[in-house]
Amino acid sequence: MSKVIPRFMVLIGALLLLVTACQQETGSTELNLLCTPQVEWCEGMKAEFEAAFPEITVNFVRMSSGESLTRLRNEQENPQFDIWWGGPIDSFIAAKEEGLLEAYDSPNLDNIKDPALMRDPDNQWVGIYVGSLGFATNQTFLDENPGLEPPTSWDDLLKPEFADQLMVAHPSSSGTSYTALCTILQMRGEEPGWDYLRTYAGQVNQFTKSGSAPARFVGQGEAAVGIVFSHDIVAQIQDGAPLVLTFPEEGTGYEIGGMGIIKGAAHLDAAQKWFDWALEPATQELGPKYNAFQAPTVNGASASMPELLEVNLIDYDFQFCGESKSDFVDRFTNEIANADQLKE
Ligand code: PLP
Repeated sequence: MSKVIPRFMVLIGALLLLVTACQQETGSTELNLLCTPQVEWCEGMKAEFEAAFPEITVNFVRMSSGESLTRLRNEQENPQFDIWWGGPIDSFIAAKEEGLLEAYDSPNLDNIKDPALMRDPDNQWVGIYVGSLGFATNQTFLDENPGLEPPTSWDDLLKPEFADQLMVAHPSSSGTSYTALCTILQMRGEEPGWDYLRTYAGQVNQFTKSGSAPARFVGQGEAAVGIVFSHDIVAQIQDGAPLVLTFPEEGTGYEIGGMGIIKGAAHLDAAQKWFDWALEPATQELGPKYNAFQAPTVNGASASMPELLEVNLIDYDFQFCGESKSDFVDRFTNEIANADQLKE
């Protein structure tokens, strides 16, 4: 018996080495992508990547930022995804803190416009787009309430006219909503910020799971105002939704959308190909083809709607918000609004 087991193990070991060697020689034929932006853009990127790398099939799952982070934590011992693409970097900073990401020194990291802001010094995540937070107001609601103006400050959201009329995602599932939460805490200071958030949550008609969903629901008249990334509001307006886009004049938060390779990725070579490809200017200019109007992060790519960043942006502290994410989300969930019944 004692001789059989070692021989059996040696055989398995040799087979594993052979499979790995073959894979290294031929390269992976699959890539498992965790995709956080809207499904239309994920589908478009899959098709574009497969056209550029016909030997690789991309399997993607679309999940919001908070859900993605939870999934990666749960799969840490047996990762199912190779690369995570999209969603605010606050969640990537949190993922890095928890040891969920793999460093990759891509040659295309040199393309990044603002490395101090958009590139992790340890190469575990990088910025792939930039977008600002805005308000989406239903035009029909405004027409039905003469004299009511769309909100142009965070305080406007607390007006009695907007009671039970706000829609925003829940920060536990959504990076968009977490960006709004952390924007408020930075602008007002922590305790006054939490007081504001409590009142603001009292105005909310329903919390959604996905960050961009309120723009669609407000366009359909299910609430008056959505707190959403401005590029998602533009995407709905281009689809014909009766929405007005405004920004809080005293300052608004913004996101850097992130990308990172998952620690223990089974298809590391394919993940690195995606990583390099996503940092090419031509790739970053694909967004508008798929209704995505975020600004690029690499030199040589121009923004389709630069005006979305020509607003009063706060000096958002990504490190602070990333490191505090799990505490702030817990506090919001425990003290302000639970995440039991989120609108899909
Ligand atoms: N969809 C788009 C188009 C986005 O820009 C972003 C932000 O990065 C997200 C989705 C993020 O999704 P969520 O707020 O659901 O985490």
